[in-house]
Amino acid sequence: MTAKVIFIGAGPGSADLITLRGAQRLALADVVLFDALTDPALRAFAPQARWIDVGKRGFCDSAGQATIDALLVRHAREGSVVVRLKGGDPSVFGRLEEELEALGRHGIACEVVPGVTAAAAAAADTQRPLTRRGSGRSVALSTAMTREGDLVAGQRADTEVFYMAGKQLAKLARRLQDAGWPADTPVSVVSRAGWPDRMSSEHRLADLPCAAVLHAGRPTVVTVGMGAMPVAHAPQSASLDHHQALVQTRAS
Ligand code: SAH
Repeated sequence: MTAKVIFIGAGPGSADLITLRGAQRLALADVVLFDALTDPALRAFAPQARWIDVGKRGFCDSAGQATIDALLVRHAREGSVVVRLKGGDPSVFGRLEEELEALGRHGIACEVVPGVTAAAAAAADTQRPLTRRGSGRSVALSTAMTREGDLVAGQRADTEVFYMAGKQLAKLARRLQDAGWPADTPVSVVSRAGWPDRMSSEHRLADLPCAAVLHAGRPTVVTVGMGAMPVAHAPQSASLDHHQALVQTRAS
């Protein structure tokens, strides 16, 4: 049997946000290496598999990454169907490059199944489209965490979505204003997008630091610019759950 690893995007929240293809491939797994932000309910799709948690603290540094790479290679070489289950989409801030390289070095075949990335789930939860005809033509996905540790923020697109920025909202607001975004630029902050207990808040850029307490300790994306604007005459949310909190800190 040819060694094979399937990367699957689990989506950013509840298990039902995985794609149909993702669920079907997951059902084939002998071994699943999963990340911290994936829903435990996904186990129901592959009860036969051995589930290995590689999302714990300590797996985030480069030594941890080497361990994950080694586990992928070892299990694939043993002939197992190995699923690498990643939160959101594997191609977005998911260390996919390193893992593909590691498998490529060992001649192991791979498949990548896309998933719903957190920015898309946040746009859906808040009913704020990431692109707008005529005025929102570009979207940049940026990480607030760089290898050097410093936050870099610019004005590269009509809508900028920041991942991993939850702990640095004050700095992000400063850097964005330094880069030319006006103080009253709309900003939408969504934590645990796609989960029943998701929360969203809307701000002006200058007030963004207020969001820190509300979303503390939760995975958060920050959408800045056109994609954070409410839709005119937006319909009421017809979401099936009632846990969503919409908090407004925008000055009227
Ligand atoms: N591959 C993932 C991103 C992984 S990086 C994706 O495509 O979504 C981890 C960061 O993603 C978190 O720090 C947070 O900024 C963001 N994130 C992941 N899940 C989230 C969620 N449910 N709600 C809001 N942000 C989320």
